Amino acid sequence: MIVSSKVLARSNIIASSFPRVYKCLSAKSLSFHSTTAASRKVAVLGAAGGIGQPLSMLFKLSPEVSELACYDVANAPGIAADLSHIPTKCRVYGASPEENGLEKCLKGADLVVIPAGVPRKPGMTRDDLFNINASIVKTLIEGCATHCPNAILAIISNPVNSTVPIAAEVLKQHNVYDPRKLVGVTTLDVVRARTFVAESQGWDPKDVDVTVIGGHAGITILPLFSQVNNAKFTDEQLEALTVRTQFGGDEVVKAKAGAGSATLSMAYAGFLFGENILKALRGEEGIVQCAFVESSLTEASYFASPCRFGRHGVEEVLPFGPLSAGETNALQKLIPELISQIQRGRDYVVEPQAF
Ligand code: NAD
Repeated sequence: MIVSSKVLARSNIIASSFPRVYKCLSAKSLSFHSTTAASRKVAVLGAAGGIGQPLSMLFKLSPEVSELACYDVANAPGIAADLSHIPTKCRVYGASPEENGLEKCLKGADLVVIPAGVPRKPGMTRDDLFNINASIVKTLIEGCATHCPNAILAIISNPVNSTVPIAAEVLKQHNVYDPRKLVGVTTLDVVRARTFVAESQGWDPKDVDVTVIGGHAGITILPLFSQVNNAKFTDEQLEALTVRTQFGGDEVVKAKAGAGSATLSMAYAGFLFGENILKALRGEEGIVQCAFVESSLTEASYFASPCRFGRHGVEEVLPFGPLSAGETNALQKLIPELISQIQRGRDYVVEPQAF
């Protein structure tokens, strides 16, 4: 038994008394029209990419952001010039690696969101991206450790199951690792699960919430459909919904036929996640959303589950609640896979001679 029954029992007890409304509630609100005064700096690393551009635009529109720094190895000043003509209070600028661009973008950042890297092509798994993206994330996190050691770092670059442990090891080497401030973005899995459940039940997606746990690749993604109130699924539907949530990214990769992976839905998900972090940083209470974080809920040292965010980032890693028999099985199957992907990320930094 890989997931200790003690842990599962503890999760079930605590989660059953945990109000459903709190679970990933934040996935429902985009607040372009709030009047909140904010003075928060957000840096997007990889801002000229398929995800980076729409993600940067959403942050430019957000009342939570006063300063937006767009960093990329290509075309960041152009993206920033374009965004700067949108009439919002948020000041925006862009920089490339030349002339200390990374340092300028990171200095004073409260939140750094990282979609830099290479996306999947048809036939590639997220793991195939490992070698390229591992090196990109390592370099960028070294910059964060030096220039903004107190910022919250939200990693989108895949494979998230490995890039988050890579980031943690780099931060540890610089003596600035704080597990509350390092998160892998799994919100797209939640967004997809909500959409697919709503379609299957004929519901409005805004009324649907789904907790998605585990990791962020294939079978390591585990949507907990048994916790969706009032939903009626046949066994076949449940299986199909689970597989579609786990491999939803492949649908997009295939449909884009070589032109990349999910960008627009990912930008939406990344923004939702990031804006909620900013709201929590300024003291808004009750911000709970799923994230891939350092965790002791299972034997995997990093695990996605609902997390309560506050003024310092992840204030509490919450239990994931009761599981059906099928979900318990799936959880046991995913843990060894997740542990091995975490180990690969850790080794990339700690034992680089193996790569
Ligand atoms: P893209 O190729 O369109 O954009 C990536 C951007 O990163 C490019 O502009 C590139 O110039 C930039 N970049 C590369 N190396 C860099 C470096 N060292 N410093 C700064 N910028 C650098 O790719 P995309 O479609 O935007 O995807 C980006 C990443 O996000 C990929 O790894 C992809 O797999 C991942 N992704 C994650 C999720 C998720 O749910 N977490 C979903 C979709 C895609």
